[in-house]
Amino acid sequence: MTKIAIVDSGVDTPEEILMAADIIPFRFFGDPSLNITKANEHVPPNHCIWARNLLERALNGLDADIKGLITTHGCDCTNREFDIWLECVDLDFMYFLNAPLKRDKAAIKFFVDDMKELIQQLETKFNVKITKEKITEAIKLTNKIRNLLKEISEYRSKMVLKGSEFHEIVKKVQQEDKKQTLAMLENKLEELKNKETFPEKMKRILLTGSVIDDSEFIKNLETLGLQVVMDDICIGTRYFWDSIEENGDPIKALSKYHLKKPIYSTKIPSLQRFDNLKHFTEKYEVDGVLNVAQKFCEPILYDHPHMSKAFKALEIPYLFVEIEYSRESFKQLATRFEAFAEMIGGK
Ligand code: SF4
Repeated sequence: MTKIAIVDSGVDTPEEILMAADIIPFRFFGDPSLNITKANEHVPPNHCIWARNLLERALNGLDADIKGLITTHGCDCTNREFDIWLECVDLDFMYFLNAPLKRDKAAIKFFVDDMKELIQQLETKFNVKITKEKITEAIKLTNKIRNLLKEISEYRSKMVLKGSEFHEIVKKVQQEDKKQTLAMLENKLEELKNKETFPEKMKRILLTGSVIDDSEFIKNLETLGLQVVMDDICIGTRYFWDSIEENGDPIKALSKYHLKKPIYSTKIPSLQRFDNLKHFTEKYEVDGVLNVAQKFCEPILYDHPHMSKAFKALEIPYLFVEIEYSRESFKQLATRFEAFAEMIGGK
């Protein structure tokens, strides 16, 4: 089956439109083992380290089944990289989807119009018909997937499912055929219902910040006794927390869903992200909050001063780290994570 790569720092791409065209939405991730050379010819030294990695992967050549790219308006780094892909990467189809920064009524209409343009261009390029009925069918499927993810996510807080395993599950959902992932999630949920809690005692943390697509980062935290019981990252709750209306116009429903779900730091008002985090800290009784920025991720760097003050006022332990996109750097951070693990409560 044809795949279209998605570069999308805010997870705002309406995957259902691609599914309605029998195309697999394939969220494009980095490769922490990659040596960066070619991308450095195109972007300045203070360009986000993760986005630079994606660019290197694209310049090295993509798998043959990836026939196109959709970049959805996110941060400045991914937005500007789209122009470089246009010039330097050989793909049949490339579309910049203009997901609005604002979340008002005008923004909903604006997003609907651009989704309609995307549909038209997909239909022409791939010789398919993307009907409203097919989009609604896809919405029903992704809603089931979101609900299952939400249910499975709770087993992190029950100390039955490791945060790293859950992270790997969400990544699969973002890259594989959705019908197959539905079956995988149903089986996983049944398995979890009969599982015991971990024998070891772990501290409960809430993970926030940039995109984190290497599950090894979370595994490293676990070796230090830190369990991610909740998150608000894009390979996490921001991908599945709400559902899409199944009645009415499906394109408008997609627009409303993406503009009402938990906000990301690239959107306006970005600091509203804190409200959701505060809610999660209370509901999931976390011992501390970990805010992780990929190196040079400006949206998260701008968030940090506000978050630091706000969590201090709530007397919730908060740690901010900026990371290199490499496994070696995760290990180098071990001392800071160990100190954080020792400092925070443990209920
Ligand atoms: S990590 Fe930050 S700067 Fe990098 S692509 Fe994501 S939002 Fe943009």
